[in-house]
Amino acid sequence: MDLNVVKGIGPKKKNLLRKLGINSVSDLYNYYPRAYEDRSKLRKIKDINNNKDHYFIWKIRSKLYIKNTRKMTISYLYASEEGSSEKIRLIWFYDRYSPRKLRIGKEYKFFTKISRNGGYVEAKNPLFSEMTDDQIGSIVSIYPLTSGLSNNQLHNYINESLKYYDKKEDFLAEDLVKKYGLDFRYNNLFEIHNPRSIGSLMKAKSSVKIMDLVKDLVFLQVIKNKTRQKNNIRLKYKLSEILNKLDFTLTKSQARSLYEILSDCQSEYTANRLLIGDVGSGKTIIAMIMMIIFAQNSYQSAMMVPTEVLAIQHFEKNLSLFNEFGIRLGLLTGSSKDKDLIKKDLLEGKIQVLIGTHALIQEDVEFKNLKFVVNDEQHRFGVSQRQMLALKGKAVNYLTMTATPIPRTMYLKISNILDMSMIDELPRGRKPIETQVISEDHQEILFDKIEENIKDRRQVYVVTNNIDGDDKNSLLNLFKKFEKRFNKNKISMLHGKMKAYDKERILKDFSIGKIDILISTTVIEVGIDVPNANMMVIYNASNFGLSTLHQLRGRVGRGPYKSFCYLISKDTKPSNKLNILVKESSGFEIAKKDFDLRGGGKIISLLQHGKNLSKIEFLNMDKSDIDQSFKIYNDLKENDFRSCDLSFITKFFGEDRRIILN
Ligand code: ADP
Ligand code: MG
Repeated sequence: MDLNVVKGIGPKKKNLLRKLGINSVSDLYNYYPRAYEDRSKLRKIKDINNNKDHYFIWKIRSKLYIKNTRKMTISYLYASEEGSSEKIRLIWFYDRYSPRKLRIGKEYKFFTKISRNGGYVEAKNPLFSEMTDDQIGSIVSIYPLTSGLSNNQLHNYINESLKYYDKKEDFLAEDLVKKYGLDFRYNNLFEIHNPRSIGSLMKAKSSVKIMDLVKDLVFLQVIKNKTRQKNNIRLKYKLSEILNKLDFTLTKSQARSLYEILSDCQSEYTANRLLIGDVGSGKTIIAMIMMIIFAQNSYQSAMMVPTEVLAIQHFEKNLSLFNEFGIRLGLLTGSSKDKDLIKKDLLEGKIQVLIGTHALIQEDVEFKNLKFVVNDEQHRFGVSQRQMLALKGKAVNYLTMTATPIPRTMYLKISNILDMSMIDELPRGRKPIETQVISEDHQEILFDKIEENIKDRRQVYVVTNNIDGDDKNSLLNLFKKFEKRFNKNKISMLHGKMKAYDKERILKDFSIGKIDILISTTVIEVGIDVPNANMMVIYNASNFGLSTLHQLRGRVGRGPYKSFCYLISKDTKPSNKLNILVKESSGFEIAKKDFDLRGGGKIISLLQHGKNLSKIEFLNMDKSDIDQSFKIYNDLKENDFRSCDLSFITKFFGEDRRIILN
């Protein structure tokens, strides 16, 4: 339903909401608070001896006084508390407007810290409200905001939107909801946005999480049954011949994953498998080996990656390996010059393995005999993009690869429904990446480190978040600065807006060591692999999310050299979230802490199967809630999901289309 129906939302607010990812009424009431502030307990001054905010009710006793000093305006007035003889002084700095609303003789709610000054109890810039308003005196939901939209406004819109709640969001029959001790989604959402107590809030949250997880599990199972296809291939291969050509031996979990994928591709039904592994765990080579095997059996494969830069790199890096087996590898991106020739060779089967971006899913890209499809970094593609590639062949085996972390307990349970393999170790000999937060004002320290590193013949990445603009840390300004400071070294720039040809050349030069310092945007975030580069410098680090920083850091520490990651920030206080990266190296732990920081407001979906499906707050789900979800799921399954409303599945995907999971 369109946001227009909600009272108070016009075109302007609609735009602001869009910035928060809210495009419909359902998005609005499913927008969860990032945190809660307990302003529910009414206090008396005499009981307070700490420096925290508390809720008081005070009566105004004087008119408003305004004093202008040379530096600022101070507004103040006096108040009293019932049953107490304390004199209360309320003071506002720089704010002569908001206290004007207060009337002598009237009571108001206050939420403030108090301190003593002379004979007075003082409250500085206190938050206050009318007695009838519940922004004070309750548990208040705090939402992620954008400028121009206040918490109060958003909260009101959400409550308005709940009037249009769509009953279809409850997919469990009424008696089942009761049977499992859950509550209806509407009631849960209402509680989540307007909690009565911490206890009832917790209950509502876990009820929503359980139902969302059950819904996702049902989705997976139903789709899996619908899309199963008979496999009609037979693979012959000599693994040792392939493995001997690699310059390392596979780790145990790589070998296990490879084996699982291989047997999947030869089972009665086509494979549809998710390969999970932290950054740098070595997922790419598994896909390459599979594609070699398919090619040796005269079947075509295609690998789709999210950026041109990554496509180019996968191509360059693996070209010689494929050549050794006489397999022709093709590269197709939006800016490939010889597109027509590539397409022709593909259709004739001369190109056996094709690597590329979403250019691969264009209509006129046709295969002779496509049987294996890989999606690298799957979460960057939409569901329909992912299915389109597999639709270019008959009975295609499908592999997706991701670094999205999953808790182990969840993994074990979900793997009963979804075929998954996990690489849970890094290749041997990897040293931990030394990570440090460096103040913007102390860059000389950094430059010395970089200089030393280059002297050792290693290479350096420098990453920032914007290309031009007047930010002194923009790509262009950093480039100038580094050119000046490191005038004897070779420095290059890389960003998404460059021509493919230039990107290709720069990546190649960097990978063969011709470039010492590569200054780049986040186009190098995923997948880029140059083992000789061992230093990652990230400017404006606070502007990135922790998971992105972890991905970026994952670009180094890929070879035998000791590696470093420097996060440049104005704020170097120990409380800065960047310090989480200093202490943590596991992507899973980082995602979890990142998640805790954001208070569970922005929820990560495990399955990422479409933005309209509800998402699972899986990272911080209690074990008992996970267990309960699987119990309900199993009960439903025994019943062939007869008691579920499955319209949510068919709604998003036409009945007759094949759907790719993961
Ligand atoms: P990711 O899982 O992040 O995609 P990559 O596939 O890019 O990781 O692998 C990271 C690096 O580790 C690459 O340089 C790759 O060649 C190397 N690598 C992969 N497997 C092994 C292994 N078993 N031993 C040593 N190095 C490996
Ligand atoms: Mg990768």
